[in-house]
Amino acid sequence: MVGQQSESMRVVPDTSERCLSILLWNTCNAQCAHCGPLSAPSDKTRNSRELISRLIQEAESLYGPGWTLSLSGGEPFLHFEELTSIIREARSHNGYTTMISNAYWARDFECARQSLLPLVQNGLKILSISADSYHDPYISFDRVVNALRAGESLGLRMTVRCVGSATSSASEIMNRLRTAGVFYVHVMEMPLVREGRGALRPDNEYLLLEHLPEGRCPSASLTIDASSNAMVCCNGGGSDKSLQLGSAVTRTLSDLEYSFASDPVINFLKKSGPAAAIDFLDEQEQSEIRSDRYVNECDLCMKIFNGARGCLVRRQIESRFLSSMQGEIVRIKRVAENRQNTDQTGSVDELGLLVEQHAD
Ligand code: SF4
Ligand code: SF4
Repeated sequence: MVGQQSESMRVVPDTSERCLSILLWNTCNAQCAHCGPLSAPSDKTRNSRELISRLIQEAESLYGPGWTLSLSGGEPFLHFEELTSIIREARSHNGYTTMISNAYWARDFECARQSLLPLVQNGLKILSISADSYHDPYISFDRVVNALRAGESLGLRMTVRCVGSATSSASEIMNRLRTAGVFYVHVMEMPLVREGRGALRPDNEYLLLEHLPEGRCPSASLTIDASSNAMVCCNGGGSDKSLQLGSAVTRTLSDLEYSFASDPVINFLKKSGPAAAIDFLDEQEQSEIRSDRYVNECDLCMKIFNGARGCLVRRQIESRFLSSMQGEIVRIKRVAENRQNTDQTGSVDELGLLVEQHAD
């Protein structure tokens, strides 16, 4: 039951980023053609305020002072009073907030300052503004510039996030910022991937690699989506059921952190990368996946873990993990028995620790 974990469970796993990432709601004033979570003005999907409060309280006791609340959506500013109260609540629980927004609210410099001031006063530290050719039809670039200037004037750390594709790039955004007289803002480029509406773009818009991306999972990070599902990341793969960890409504943050830290699939992806998971498929699927082209590891990951195929791969990885664990448990039991026979008990602790670490 939620809230009934023992105090001894409230220890954060070593791998935790001490960051509570929440996609608050899926409502957005825009409807960008690349949007991964399919955000739109008509989408009312959202986390309840009660759940957000409970997660903030748990984050304080789990992560300790200085933890981070990372907010995105949808567009967080659409429910401004609520947004302010969430940021305030995080600060009252010794956390600070970072956020992503599309800057629609920054009509002019003064208006942008007035919007940001209460958020900064209540603990907002970093603000990322989304801007590129996909946002252009909905948000005038002037508003991006107003938001950046206002944020800088209030001491906020400001960044710009843009999509990398055949029609959008960080260098183009940097040129536009320079023309507007905005310098020294960090611009991050994230490639267009086949997630949500992004999956509907023409093939020649993706920056496809010539070779199979064989790197490790670049940024798995526990994230609560707008439907309160705990995902392994917000890079696209997390929207596949086989890369979700259950509902934050019925599980505590501590449970979710431990599931994340001990999940065989996440650990496999971090250690070996999505390309290594292709070997779990039959020959026909292997050849189909290998013959396609991908933007990056996450694009490949989404292909492998999509739908029924993803469930199959998950089962195979879990079953291989369980076999290896059984072998390890037998080994440690033998060591423990030998030590007990010679009146030593160290390995009994080792066995207990191993079972505790890997039991879900
Ligand atoms: S502004 Fe962001 S959340 Fe809204 S539709 Fe565009 S990409 Fe999606
Ligand atoms: S490789 Fe998969 S799990 Fe890792 S960040 Fe990318 S999409 Fe997410």
